[in-house]
Amino acid sequence: MDTSTLPVIASSDPEYAADVEGYNRIVTHRPRLVVGARTESDVVAAVRYAAAAGLSVGVQATGHGIGVPADGVLVSTRRMRTVQVDPATRTVRVAAGVRGRDLTAALVPHGLAPLGGSSPDVGVVGYHLGGGLPLLGRTFGYAADRVRALDVVTAAGAPRTVTPDAEPDLFWALLGCRGSFGVVTSLVTEVLSLTSVVGGGLWFTGDAIAPAVHRWVEWTAGLPETMNSSVLLMRLPDLPAIPEAVRGRRIAHVRVAHVGPPAEATALLAPLRAAGPVQDTVGVLPVGALGSIHDEPPGPVVFESRNSLLGPLDAAGAVALLEHADSDVFLVELRHLGGALARADGRAVVGRRDGEFVLYTGSALPTPADREPAAAAQARLHDALAPWGIGAVTPAFLAGPHVTRADLRSAFAPRDRARLRDVKRAWDPADMFRMAQVGTAADLSDG
Ligand SMILES: Cc1cc2nc3c(=O)[nH]c(=O)nc-3n(C[C@H](O)[C@H](O)[C@H](O)COP(=O)(O)OP(=O)(O)OC[C@H]3O[C@@H](n4cnc5c(N)ncnc54)[C@H](O)[C@@H]3O)c2cc1C
Repeated sequence: MDTSTLPVIASSDPEYAADVEGYNRIVTHRPRLVVGARTESDVVAAVRYAAAAGLSVGVQATGHGIGVPADGVLVSTRRMRTVQVDPATRTVRVAAGVRGRDLTAALVPHGLAPLGGSSPDVGVVGYHLGGGLPLLGRTFGYAADRVRALDVVTAAGAPRTVTPDAEPDLFWALLGCRGSFGVVTSLVTEVLSLTSVVGGGLWFTGDAIAPAVHRWVEWTAGLPETMNSSVLLMRLPDLPAIPEAVRGRRIAHVRVAHVGPPAEATALLAPLRAAGPVQDTVGVLPVGALGSIHDEPPGPVVFESRNSLLGPLDAAGAVALLEHADSDVFLVELRHLGGALARADGRAVVGRRDGEFVLYTGSALPTPADREPAAAAQARLHDALAPWGIGAVTPAFLAGPHVTRADLRSAFAPRDRARLRDVKRAWDPADMFRMAQVGTAADLSDG
């Protein structure tokens, strides 16, 4: 078939690796054809080509959320980097290849900020299509809830703009089920009028870890929505770049981000500070530095993760967490949910909103032999916390080739699954986007 109208990236092209290999190398795309899209027309041409050739279509922006590797046409969106800010309406149009840090850089001069996640390297569109669980989520809700419009190329090979009024079902489904229904070329979203937060981390080591985790769990109950926080448990690498107080040591890292008067943050943080951190980096932070709160590794990584949503935690839950998190083969993160994250206006599917915490575990896998013990250790922790679980995962953190149908089913309430199946059948009847999270309607079947 003729590919002369397509911006094909040949395997001999020096840019090929950057299009195919992304952040997480747990799997690598093995496409028949890579299209280095720069415009919506390129995406339309790629989808039409795939339709005519009977190939699947996969999408990659950064590879932070790689799932099933693409085996047909891979649309690489990383060259689609336009950001158009409209300060008057506090909205922004973001093209498919824009990363969080680029969006922040475009907004900050206007006194605006994105409702971003923990890592500024994640793709803005991919993040929103997973629901978008923000660092400031308790205060402002899911990022998906602020999206006003999506420009998408569906299996029919025609571009269309979907909004809550025009094609409400497709709009709703895309915001939580990622690339399962088409290729999004850009989105329009509301942004925040915000220049700084009180943010940073409190670091605990040794015997202070267990009391600090108990204190954090108690502290989260009854917090105002202005306070956002998480705790990370892991052993830090023994690297010179890491401060000596925590280098090479097991740590509990309580991260906070407060929106409001600094005095309120200081008062709220007093009980955590009394738990004796060895390092305290909390202070007024410009929104451009929000990524420093989690300070996630730049990659590339070979990484396998799991998540589960928990309800309220008590002291016994904290004990179970501490017992099973004491492992050098994975990191454990507990993010506090609730607040605005629990509210929905029904425009975006997002996933279950009734979790109090999301428990996330992840393992770096230097060799394939590391995979099995790491996966088993992660599973033991999630099983141990199951009595506090709500029997669901969040789609926001679903990634990797190991995601099962059971995971996908648990991510959405039964009524939402039925509606998602209908949307999949209506918009992708031949399962062109079968290499996405929801490959076929059967992936969301009740059986
Ligand atoms: C270090 C790290 C931190 C993270 N922190 C957060 C966080 O705080 N909150 C949160 O909610 N999530 C977080 N995530 C998850 C992340 O938001 C998702 O994995 C997201 O889908 C990644 O999008 P991407 O485009 O960067 O990745 P990619 O791997 O390029 O894309 C992932 C998938 O998204 C879909 N997709 C991407 N672009 C398009 C498009 N234009 N059209 C259609 N489908 C598309 C495709 O199905 C693709 O397979 C984090 C992930 C990592 C690795």
